[in-house]
Amino acid sequence: MPNVVVVGTQWGDEGKGKIVDLLTERAQLVVRYQGGNNAGHTLVVGGEKFIFHLIPSGILHPGTVCLIGNGVVLDPEVFLMEVDRLRNRGIKVGPENLRISERTQVIMPYHRRIDVAREEKKGAGKIGTTGRGIGPCYEDKVARRGIRVADLVDPEILQAKLADVLPEKNFYLEKFLHGKPFELEEILTSYLEMGARLKPLMTNVSVLLQQAVKSGKNILFEGAQGTHLDIDHGTYPFVTSSNPVAGGACTGTGVGPGELHHILGIVKAYTTRVGGGPFPTECLDKIGDHLVECGVEFGSTTGRRRRCGWLDAVVLKDAARLNGLTGLAITKLDVLTTLDPVKICVGYDDGGVRRDTMPGTIKELERCRPVFEELPGWSEDLRGVRRYEDLPANTRQYLKRVEELVGVPIQLVSVGPDREETIVVRNPFE
Ligand code: GDP
Repeated sequence: MPNVVVVGTQWGDEGKGKIVDLLTERAQLVVRYQGGNNAGHTLVVGGEKFIFHLIPSGILHPGTVCLIGNGVVLDPEVFLMEVDRLRNRGIKVGPENLRISERTQVIMPYHRRIDVAREEKKGAGKIGTTGRGIGPCYEDKVARRGIRVADLVDPEILQAKLADVLPEKNFYLEKFLHGKPFELEEILTSYLEMGARLKPLMTNVSVLLQQAVKSGKNILFEGAQGTHLDIDHGTYPFVTSSNPVAGGACTGTGVGPGELHHILGIVKAYTTRVGGGPFPTECLDKIGDHLVECGVEFGSTTGRRRRCGWLDAVVLKDAARLNGLTGLAITKLDVLTTLDPVKICVGYDDGGVRRDTMPGTIKELERCRPVFEELPGWSEDLRGVRRYEDLPANTRQYLKRVEELVGVPIQLVSVGPDREETIVVRNPFE
């Protein structure tokens, strides 16, 4: 009966995919509540590799229903391609195990083109978007000129909306971004075709979730990106366009806050960041190289090398507060093996003034220097360890200190990429 929200506590790429996969075994429903196809999970199941950008990986579990909430932005081309790929590999995909909210915003071809052209125009001042049209789609949602999934099955409405919005998009594309404009008919035809394919999957996700709650099912809410990429609470403007924080699970699916029972924060045992923005614990030395190499810190969708640094407890304490975390899942702990000492940032020094929470502006965060605490490292291989008490004493000391600093108990510890390479202290679904 409990419902669990999985949320990244840092800047994304915390290894949520593996934890979600593990928890999905206990969930009858898995719901995505924000973001788009910029999330990338790679799962290896039975020796076969599956890559997911949009559809929850729970689709691989027979009997699990996967939902795309209204808070997501959906690129129908990418979505249908993912569906086809799964079907080609013998995975059953249909209304019985995959539904999308009729209110979900649709990523249109002009969103993608604007996204790419804008980044090119910005040059060095780039935010580091993935160019998939996600930001421009959220802009249109808030500007109340977005196209929603339900519009794709209504030719009159879609035609009228496109006629309204396209002249402005084309003007902006041609005159400001020096890009190519779009023809209305072209978009209309192809999006109505895709709408027809999506129709059987469209539903009222909020109603469906209410029924699931009433019948005592377990629901897993899957957040994409991470807390400090949150549009409101993150390191603005180096953020994503949606609300990855746990509260986003309510607005992004249509459940009340009382239905979110456990909030599991995914914590990578060190910190990584993709793209620009201040990063107080960043290591630009051989420690950074170790983390990149041992942690294979390259973007799963872009291949970009991630910036790496020590664990930052200021970041984590903020995440605990912003999400109301009830448990932590530590991932990639094995990557710290052989580093000695291991460091944790316990506060910031802002020109002689101590800070214990993330400042509200980039300018202040750029000024902050990390205050590190050093702990003894370990050299034992962790990947075979399955019980908490079997971890080396120094590893346990490190984990205990993280718990103390963040004030939230550790429930899962991941010591390798494999599903089996996990220490379960307490499964939040129990
Ligand atoms: P996500 O989008 O939050 O899942 O994060 P990433 O795209 O960074 O994926 C995490 C990567 O790290 C995947 O390749 C996983 O197989 C791998 N991974 C997950 N947990 C662990 C772990 O505990 N140890 C190691 N070494 N790798 C892990």
